[in-house]
Amino acid sequence: MYMSAIDSLYQHFLNYRTICTDTRSITKDCLFFALKGENFDANAFAAQALSNGAAYAIIDNPDYLNDDRCILVPDVLTALQDLARHHRSLMNIPVIGLTGSNGKTTTKELVNAVLSEKYKTFATKGNLNNHIGVPLSLLSIDNEIEIAVIEMGANHQKEIEFLCGIAQPTHGLITNIGMAHLDGFGGFEGVKKGKAELYTYLKNHHGTAFVNRNNLYLMEMTAVAGLDKVIYYGTGSGNTVSGSLLKTDPFLELSWTDKDGNHQTTTNLTGSYNFENILAAIGLGEFFNLSPEQINTGLSGYQPKNNRSQLTKTDRNTVICDFYNANPSSMTAALANINSLSASHKVAIIGDMFELGKESREQHRQVISEAEKTNVETLIFIGKDFYAAKEQHRGHFFLTPDEAKAFLEKESLSDQLILLKGSRGMALERLLPYL
Ligand code: ATP
Ligand code: MG
Repeated sequence: MYMSAIDSLYQHFLNYRTICTDTRSITKDCLFFALKGENFDANAFAAQALSNGAAYAIIDNPDYLNDDRCILVPDVLTALQDLARHHRSLMNIPVIGLTGSNGKTTTKELVNAVLSEKYKTFATKGNLNNHIGVPLSLLSIDNEIEIAVIEMGANHQKEIEFLCGIAQPTHGLITNIGMAHLDGFGGFEGVKKGKAELYTYLKNHHGTAFVNRNNLYLMEMTAVAGLDKVIYYGTGSGNTVSGSLLKTDPFLELSWTDKDGNHQTTTNLTGSYNFENILAAIGLGEFFNLSPEQINTGLSGYQPKNNRSQLTKTDRNTVICDFYNANPSSMTAALANINSLSASHKVAIIGDMFELGKESREQHRQVISEAEKTNVETLIFIGKDFYAAKEQHRGHFFLTPDEAKAFLEKESLSDQLILLKGSRGMALERLLPYL
């Protein structure tokens, strides 16, 4: 019964191809999916979507069934996910599933930059990596696409398994395992278990995993999952692609070796933590038969524009814009990076890290201690979790970005290298005009 409903919905999809979920951005002849959020129920906007040009509205509340162009389904979100799963199952292309605690979006962009030198690729737009974003991503893949790179995010168990069921990856990569979303996963072991769902999916579906051999957690998870098709990358020998960092200041340069010899690559990325992201992209490029020249062109042409590891010059200072998000692992990596860069004066402006559950206060205290050990002279901490540790430590502490703003206005910093990083909810980009 429901299968035929999906078939008929799929016919509509093939006729119109565009999906919208927000009445503020309706495009003509789209299919409008009336999703529910925490504070809204888009069933109420179905009529508006239709009058704004949607071809059909997919709803799940019969009270709003007042137009021939409304399609009633048992659950709109499930219909969207089923549609995406169905669409994916009709594609005969490699789909690379990408998850991990840190560096998913960066790695996804790098992989895409590399693979697009040879293939017509699709990669997740921005950070659309959840139970809605993954289906929307898949539904924007058309017949011309030869390889897709799909970012999959998770903050609890079984989420990656569920997303794999929809995206059906043939290839997969876990960037790393870190201190992110500890709350929802149930601690660090929980994060490992949750991310390993990608390896289990690949094992059960004869997929290929790309694994960083230097990462002990990933190596352990590879063994536990019993993966048989594995491509290794990392430093040292025994890898399909082995690399070493030649330079990190301010941008990364590396050399890497494959079966054909040694190659060198320049990038526009700062932060030695990006080394593993770059090697992953090289590993995938090699696997999909790109030449070293194509791989290098893809990597050296990639300019981060997404406030992740982005070195930006303002009128007075150089700012490492890394304020897209933060967690203890990426904060540690970012602090190590600014510590290693050469500059006569350094400032770290760091904001609270969210979703750490009961470990939160301790994790914030540890980050302060790490920051104190660096060669950064001026430390500025913003947010209530950092503020709670104010007494024991050096540095400037502010409860809110607005309070920090007043301070920065007064200080009028110049000739500094500044790290600006915090969780998305801190929206530290608000401070950029004062730097
Ligand atoms: P999200 O969970 O928000 O989707 P993400 O996993 O996609 O995050 P990115 O957006 O690529 O991660 O990067 C976010 C930040 O994580 C970067 O700005 C950088 O500070 C840090 N980061 C990136 N790669 C790594 C890495 N390999 N190891 C540690 N930290 C990293
Ligand atoms: Mg991301």
